[in-house]
Amino acid sequence: MGKTKHTGPMKVSKKPRPDLWVSKVPFGLGKIKPHHIRDTLKVVWENKDSLPYATRILTQGVCDGCALGVSGLKDQTLKGPHLCTTRLNVLRLNTMPAIKEDMLHQPISELQKLDSTALRKLGRIPYPLIREKGEDRFRRLSWDDALDRIAGKIKQIDPKQLAFYLTSRGITNESYYVAGKVARFLGTNNIDNASRICHSPSKTALGRSIGVGASTCNYKDWIGTDVLLFWGSVAANNQPVSTKYMYAAKRKGTKIIIINPHVEPAMEEYWIPSNIESALFGTKLADDIYQVNIGGDIAFMHGVMKHWFDMEEEEHGSAIDHDFVREHVNGYEDLREKVMAYDWETLEKSSGLSKERMGELAQLLARSKSAVFVWSMGLTQHRFGTDNVSQVANLALLRGFLGREHCGLMPIRGHSGVQGSGEMGADPFVLPGSDMDEENRKRVEGHWKFPIPKWQGDIVGVTLENALLPEDHERKLKLYYMSGGNFLETMPNPDFVKQCLEAVDIRVHQDIILNTSTLVDSKEAVIVLPAMTRYEQPGGGTSTSTERMVYFSPEIKGPRIEEARAEWDIYIDLAKRVKPEQAELIDFPDAAAIREEIAKTAPNYDGIQYLKEKGDVFQWGGAWLCEGGICPTEDGRGNLIPVELPELRKPEGHFYVTTRRGKQFNSMIYGEKDPFTNADRYDILMNEIDCKELDISEGEAIVAYNKAGSFTGRAKFSNVKEGNIAVFWPEGNPLFAESVYETYAGIPEYNATCIVEKAETYYAHKDTKYVEKRIDELEVELN
Ligand code: SF4
Repeated sequence: MGKTKHTGPMKVSKKPRPDLWVSKVPFGLGKIKPHHIRDTLKVVWENKDSLPYATRILTQGVCDGCALGVSGLKDQTLKGPHLCTTRLNVLRLNTMPAIKEDMLHQPISELQKLDSTALRKLGRIPYPLIREKGEDRFRRLSWDDALDRIAGKIKQIDPKQLAFYLTSRGITNESYYVAGKVARFLGTNNIDNASRICHSPSKTALGRSIGVGASTCNYKDWIGTDVLLFWGSVAANNQPVSTKYMYAAKRKGTKIIIINPHVEPAMEEYWIPSNIESALFGTKLADDIYQVNIGGDIAFMHGVMKHWFDMEEEEHGSAIDHDFVREHVNGYEDLREKVMAYDWETLEKSSGLSKERMGELAQLLARSKSAVFVWSMGLTQHRFGTDNVSQVANLALLRGFLGREHCGLMPIRGHSGVQGSGEMGADPFVLPGSDMDEENRKRVEGHWKFPIPKWQGDIVGVTLENALLPEDHERKLKLYYMSGGNFLETMPNPDFVKQCLEAVDIRVHQDIILNTSTLVDSKEAVIVLPAMTRYEQPGGGTSTSTERMVYFSPEIKGPRIEEARAEWDIYIDLAKRVKPEQAELIDFPDAAAIREEIAKTAPNYDGIQYLKEKGDVFQWGGAWLCEGGICPTEDGRGNLIPVELPELRKPEGHFYVTTRRGKQFNSMIYGEKDPFTNADRYDILMNEIDCKELDISEGEAIVAYNKAGSFTGRAKFSNVKEGNIAVFWPEGNPLFAESVYETYAGIPEYNATCIVEKAETYYAHKDTKYVEKRIDELEVELN
């Protein structure tokens, strides 16, 4: 934690920098790129029935898009407007009217014909709904009946058979906090959140490496750092305004380095709409791109460190910051031994990069006085995600890139609520303030005045699997209470997920819209509860950005869904119905009272109680965590973690497959075409050389398949590393097996190996059981 405070937004010079232009041709004419003006006009048209309200949301509210974080149109990094098409695209979720009755109450089989995009466009959930087993459509329900029915079931079952899940879509810290408290009040630790499928390994890895699981620095540190390195992150697509910060960084001479199996066009060059120079002529972003194998990052980082240790043999101090290591870091010799034990051939094979290329990055970082490492799901969504992230921390600790200006470790978040979800305790391993250890449990019990269950709660994937346990198993999932989320489209193996959802007695979907998971049958009943958006929540709400800014978003006047309620209010009402005799223990009169309590139970959040007005914000932890190299670990030192190379197991003739995002906000799809690659959502991105070897032409129907499942699409030539392919998420999820979790953080694996074949070959042979034979072979090879 640091004492230095963030200094607020800075100005960027307006003097043109033609050396950074993509082209002298204005607006990137003739290039494949997003059409920001056209997209903005489309949003205006979509919101034409409530433009004043939409405008108030944009100018007064805190963005419910990604976690870059902005209040109104102003952020804490740069002066000038902050707005992007992601925010504009999600705007309609907040302004649209309720679903029409005839649509809502039509036969479920008709609703089930709609995909999630069509369901989203139907409108908001207007009132509580129920669909009992055997019923073919939703029925209206009163709030009392709905909550009594849920409470009645909770009273009947073992608390271990009850679970909660919260997504990150617009949910506020207040709702996460109350949900976490209510879950424990009801006797369960089965509560998890959306970070389990995005950044849980970041939190776990940073916790063990430096003692705190959040970004150690600010976006301002990007601007003027020597090296800004993006590892498995397409920030330009997923946090679009980050390109403004990259632009400002380039102006200050920062080198931007990208490490990714796919050369993402958006990270090479971008037309930043809010910057006239960039909007006209584009901005070259990446200075260098390292095309690493999918899953090859650990080997790559070992290669960089091996070069550093070799350089040290030649000249002491030429690569390692020995003063920093001596004063602030544990485990130097163990790490050195581990790294040096790997030979170059192994590291080159695993990483897909040559010793020389690894040396280039090693040299660049060794020469640099500062660097910021930013990463995303390219590192985390592996069964070795925690080790991936600890390797990044190893690099930073060896070079002393921590706890000072222009240096730091930044897991960049994609969803506005996700940073706060764990910090508020909506997590099976965490309570407000810290982990679920004995000391913290007792401390929080002191505040809450009721016992917190001691048993370990389950992560979301295991909770889903628990639905398939025998009826009398103590952890057989019988009531799943979900605030948002669409597991059918976010978890691996959708067919398996559907079985799990169907096997739960009662599923509660507290949400603003329907999605495909809401429509799945259950054993007893599906209950749907209409939630408010963050802008409707009485007393406002807060959300925490990637850089730990806690922003206050006020309640904004506008049209309302009459029966929708604040999510925290629903949780409290439910808890009181389950345990009316202890109702006073779980009561909050308003949102301000929740913030008052958060400030006490989560000491980092002391300050949240003063957030009351539009624009109010504070940053927990100060400008830099680990300031001066002092880490919040037991001995105040960072830990170098020796990491094993993962066993990648890619048999001959197979490809590594990973996922990528297109025109979408998490699993919500906003366009069938990716504006940066011109790829359709069912295109499979492949290297042209690989396609030629398989005699596959561009646009040809192909199938990627493995033991988990198959994905039929069209070949799209793209600059993906040879031997690797990329599919869109979530469409490609059938290629990923269920029940494969990262050891420490429990994130599901979203990478695999697969075979690629022409569709005509695949389907012809499928008829003659060829595929089954091939899959048997695959099982032998993989197991
Ligand atoms: S970059 Fe993220 S925080 Fe900023 S406006 Fe876009 S979606 Fe919102």
